[in-house]
Formats: sequence, structure tokens, C-alpha cells
Amino acid sequence: MFDVVIIGAGVIGCAIARELSRYQLSLAVFDQASDVCEGTSKANSGIVHAGYDATPGTNKARYNVRGNPLVYQWAQELAVPCKNNTSLVLAFSESDLPRIDALIERGQQNGVKGLSRISREEVLRREPLVNPAVAGALLAETGGIVSPYGLTIALAEHAAVNGADFHLDCQVLSLVHHPGPDVREAHFVVQTTQGPVQARSVINAAGVFADSLHNRISQDHLTITARRGEYYMLDKRIGAQFTATLFQLPTNKGKGILVTPTVEQTLILGPTSDTVPDKTDTRTTAAKLEEILTTAALTWPGLRKDSFITSFAGLRAHLAEGDFRIGRSLDVPGYYLAAGIESPGLTAAPAIAIDLAEQVASDFDLVLKQDFLPPPPPLPGFSLEQLGDPDLLSQLATEIARDPAMGRMVCRCEHVTEAQIRAAIRRPVGARTLDGIKRRTRANMGRCQGGFCTPRILEILAEELDCDISALTKSGGQSRILTGQLEVGG
Ligand SMILES: Cc1cc2nc3c(=O)[nH]c(=O)nc-3n(C[C@H](O)[C@H](O)[C@H](O)COP(=O)(O)OP(=O)(O)OC[C@H]3O[C@@H](n4cnc5c(N)ncnc54)[C@H](O)[C@@H]3O)c2cc1C
Repeated sequence: MFDVVIIGAGVIGCAIARELSRYQLSLAVFDQASDVCEGTSKANSGIVHAGYDATPGTNKARYNVRGNPLVYQWAQELAVPCKNNTSLVLAFSESDLPRIDALIERGQQNGVKGLSRISREEVLRREPLVNPAVAGALLAETGGIVSPYGLTIALAEHAAVNGADFHLDCQVLSLVHHPGPDVREAHFVVQTTQGPVQARSVINAAGVFADSLHNRISQDHLTITARRGEYYMLDKRIGAQFTATLFQLPTNKGKGILVTPTVEQTLILGPTSDTVPDKTDTRTTAAKLEEILTTAALTWPGLRKDSFITSFAGLRAHLAEGDFRIGRSLDVPGYYLAAGIESPGLTAAPAIAIDLAEQVASDFDLVLKQDFLPPPPPLPGFSLEQLGDPDLLSQLATEIARDPAMGRMVCRCEHVTEAQIRAAIRRPVGARTLDGIKRRTRANMGRCQGGFCTPRILEILAEELDCDISALTKSGGQSRILTGQLEVGG
């Protein structure tokens, strides 16, 4: 019997797991995907939102504003790439400036610090590539960018080091509640594709699918629709030319199309916002990518297609009531929800996790551990600067003498060594797939998008996992990479 079962290993499930792993308890996290961070948490804008956008008084506003400083703090603790690059919301006509002032006022009502209106000249001083027709902007000093998969994976690793048991490729099929005289004497049977488990409490953090599981156990029905956001990604040459995240004024569909550098210095344009009937449909479409280009060109008229390296899409879990649903369920004691966590859910994740862990701890009288362990050290790194500095170079030479894999470059675009790839596989909740390697090391994420390094990564994965290379997948399930074998000779 587990004390707590968490369904979903996105940023929300992993953040809750990390916070609960501070307590003396048995804890399991189930995800139907082959890795943590295979859902919405891998495909979003990666913005640490300041909190001026959400309607005052909502969970979105509260958790965003509390989450913002915590993301910076957690990223530092966990060595996750994160930068306070500021956000700008651009107005392109004088008549739109009052809307900037209204956003500032809304942000102030939400308790956001560091909001101001800046002039056209100040916008162009900060961001010379912005459309010179800009009339002014909202400056949000606390806005930032973070690696969404870096954060999710680091939280999972830290939780695992502290005893959380991750069950991947394991779908939760149903939940049955067996009530007792009080919450501590009740239990749940969690039916999974790997058999049933029992739990004293269950936390539903299943993203776009949270409603179907929830509606089988609670009378308080929820409806989640998937709203797809599509993106273009441009290579690092371009990303380095921007500092801030550049929004346009929000529309009734959300925060609109942004232009932002990522923490890895690529640049992303997007997202669109469209309801899709299939909650697994993360395709990108020619029509929506064209819409991104047209809209982003207002922010950045110099936009050209020659630096585009890929496109991708993520699905927002939009709850009919339009707000996050967080905390104890209304009718099933011992069952907790983190549902409808669309944007700004990445920013809000730490605050959501702290609140939920406190609720569970209080309901079950959990006791904090004396021996909560620190996160595992970061992966061994390599950077070009090491080659230009004599001290760093001699340090690198020593490391290569100790482990020659440190000197074997596998991904030439992102400078990822064989040692990094092997370490990514050997870590707690380590990589098992090509995408798992990608999100932990950036191999496959550069200009060539895996054209050169994929065969070598597959060889290393097969060696480390002691499996046949043909069994490896891009991201689990049917996503086999090698589909046959060529006869050589005769
Ligand atoms: C286009 C877009 C842009 C965004 N931009 C931002 C941003 O810039 N800043 C920000 O703060 N937020 C942003 N967000 C929101 C943020 O990405 C989400 O709020 C966050 O990732 C949600 O995390 P999650 O853990 O709830 O969901 P997910 O990451 O989807 O995790 C849910 C997990 O549950 C698993 N699961 C589902 N059903 C089952 C089952 N039956 N059994 C087992 N496992 C199951 C799934 O496999 C999945 O891994 C954006 C979202 C989108 C879509």
C-alpha cells in the first residue's frame, strides 16, 4: 500500500512528488508515457510569467504570483537553466497604450512588483530588432525564461533520490475509492496497465486527461478540452539577438503570439490557440505556422525563414470553468486534484506543489524526514569556453584522461559528449529513449536536429540499457526508430 499515488509526471506531478518526498511516506508516480515530461510540460513557451495577465482573485493569478519567485529559487537549487530576462508587452498604436495601463493595473491588483510603462525609445534601446512602429510597452521586470523539461526532470530526479517510485509506461485505467470511518482508514484501488496498486491517497495531475479519471470517481464532473499551441523554433544565431520575451497585447484566446529567446538561446515564435478534439494531437499545421509568421512579423519585421530549425506543438488543458482546480476533491476524502493547469501552470507549479503537499501532510499527519537528500549533481558539462582558457583546458584534459568519453563529441551542434549521454541514462529516472536523451542533454536539439548524432546515441542507449538497438524508440510506444536491416554483401 502506497501512502500517496500521483497520476502524471509532468511538471505538476513531479513538483508535487518532490515536495511530498520531504515527508516520511511511501510515494509512487505513474505516467502512461515512457518518460517524465512527455505531455504539455515539454512543449510550451517556457516563460516565467510575472502575473499581470490572470484575472485578479483567480487561482491562476494567485499561484502565478506566488510561483514566479519560487521558479527562480527552485531553478537555482536544482541547477536548471533559468534567466530573469524580463517581459515586454508591445503596443503598436497610441490608442492601445491605455490597454498597457490596464494590464499594469491588473498586475498590481494581483500583487506583481516591477511593472511599468516604457516609451517607444526605451523599447528600441532594449530590443533594437523590434518593429520601429512600436508605440510603447509594459515592462515586467520579474518575467523570465526557464527550461520546462529541465525543471520537470530535475524535480523528478530529486523526488526519486528521496524515495519516490516512478512507474513509467504505466497508464492508470481507473480509481476505486473504499471509504472508511475517516480519511486515514479509507483507501483507493488504482488499476493500472501493470496491475492494481493500493493507496491511502491519490493526486490527479494527469494534464489534459485529468477529467476522464476524475469523472469516474467524483460526482463533481469536470470537462477539459485540449487547446493546441503551435510554435516555430529558430536557431541560436538568432536567439542571441533578443533579450526580453516579447508579447503583443493579449487577445480573447490568450496571451497571443510571442517572440522569445529560450534559455538555450534558440528563439521561439508562437503559440497559436485552437481547440482540438483529439487530446493527443500535437501536429503542427501549415495554416497555423503561417499565422505565426504573419503575427510575429509585427513584433519583428526582419523575421526570415532561413534560420528555422523545427516546429512543435503543445496542448493546454483548458477546464470549462477557466481556472485551475487545485486541492482536496469536494466529495472524495483522500483524493486531490491539480486539474485544468494551462498557462501559467509552469510558473505556478512550485506554489501548487507546496500547497498540495501541505494539504496531504496535514490530512494524514505526515512527518518531515530528518534526512532529506540534496538533488543529484548536474550532468558533466562541456563548453567551448573550456578550449579558450588554459586553466579550464588543462582541467578538461585531466577529466578526459580519467574518462575518455568526456572527450568524444557526439552532438556537434550542441557540443554534447558521450560522457554526458551515458550519465543521462544512468541518472535516477534516467533516459530510456532518444527524446529522453534530447531533453536531458540537448543532443538532437540543435541546427541539424539529430541528423548526425542519432546513430551514435542509439548505440550508446543500446549498450547502456543492454537491449537490441532495434528495440529503441524516439518516445516510447510504437515510435521505433529502426524498422529493418540491410543485408550486406552476398
Ligand atoms: C502552448 C502552451 C504554452 C504554454 N506556455 C507556458 C508558459 O510560457 N509559462 C507557463 O507558466 N505555462 C505555460 N504553459 C502551461 C504549462 O505548460 C502547463 O500548465 C504545464 O506544463 C502542465 O503540467 P501538467 O503536469 O499539469 O501536465 P502534463 O505535462 O501534460 O503532465 C500530465 C501527465 O499525465 C500523464 N497522464 C495522463 N493520463 C494518464 C493516465 N491515465 N495514467 C498515467 N499517466 C497519465 C501524461 O502522460 C502526462 O505526462 C503553456 C502550455 C501550452 C500548451
